Amino acid sequence: MRKPRSLAAFQKAFPDEAACAAFLARRRWPKGFICPECGGGQAHELKSRAWVWVCAGCRRQTSVTAGTVFHRTKLPLTVWFWAAHLMATHSNGISALQLSSQLSITYKTAWLLAQKLRRSMPDPDRELLEGVVEVDQTELPYRDGQKSNGPNAGKIIVIGAVEVRDRKTGKAQKPKRIGAKYLDTMSGRCRLQAIPSNEAKHIHAFIRRTVKAGSTLITDGHPSYNGLTGYRHDPRVVGKMAAHIPLQWIHRVFSLMKRWGLGTYHGLRRKHIDTYLEEFAFRYNRRYYRRVSFETILGLSARHAPASYWQIIGRENPRKDDVPVRRGPRRRKTAMGMRPDGASSVSPAPGAG
Ligand SMILES: [Zn+2]
Repeated sequence: MRKPRSLAAFQKAFPDEAACAAFLARRRWPKGFICPECGGGQAHELKSRAWVWVCAGCRRQTSVTAGTVFHRTKLPLTVWFWAAHLMATHSNGISALQLSSQLSITYKTAWLLAQKLRRSMPDPDRELLEGVVEVDQTELPYRDGQKSNGPNAGKIIVIGAVEVRDRKTGKAQKPKRIGAKYLDTMSGRCRLQAIPSNEAKHIHAFIRRTVKAGSTLITDGHPSYNGLTGYRHDPRVVGKMAAHIPLQWIHRVFSLMKRWGLGTYHGLRRKHIDTYLEEFAFRYNRRYYRRVSFETILGLSARHAPASYWQIIGRENPRKDDVPVRRGPRRRKTAMGMRPDGASSVSPAPGAG
């Protein structure tokens, strides 16, 4: 099937529940129904429950949605399909707010939908940042109510950290002597958080929560970094004009964050700041996965999992041999060898979060 481009075209290709279910059935049984229990090929559709086939041989019932992220949910298949399409095709990321307006669903529903769909995507966020890490603060305008620059407009302080990587290898940058220039670098993962003030206690707490002990911290030398133990501090005392040079990657993150915030939310509401920062970091940390297909998001591509985060950064996944542990409903093994959340039981990282 050719991948439709616009949401309208996509909706035309999947106009209703029947079209979505037919797609799932074709995807699951390209050569016709096969019973996962007895291997029989004879079946009929159950009248009382939609999209369930009953094997003529052993009577086992098989749902066409089994093994997908939307198995046993109450939302229509069309909403899942369209949401997955939007998440897969928006290179700049799509917010729960946008999802809710585009699909005419409530914000809460959209948020939950996005959370579930994301579980099929790789998760680079489970570990602390490490190696050489730039840390800095910035200010964001926020608004109360509808006014973006009225008397209620204000600023909120955001602290951020981003890994510095070697551009050639994509691996963590090796620490150099204090004050040395880092050339030919690229950014790795980032973390962002709103903090009440620039006081040392808030800054230290953020660093301890997000950066591995022993890492090298490149900062602007703000006095609040003093007294932070367990890290190698490499302050770059610079004039305001040149701050983007030694701290180029965190400034890049901040500038993208601001641009995205304004473009996506038309200014920020303070109560949304945490969700917003989380969403931005989520997108940023998965920027190598923009081509994750809508089928992957729906959990239909378990046998063709995309390269994992660990493969891309060229490191062993430290949890590769872990028995996957998951909160929430008990996993059900399905006919397709996939879990209901869409993650493959054999492929390495995707869905591990
Ligand atoms: Zn059977």
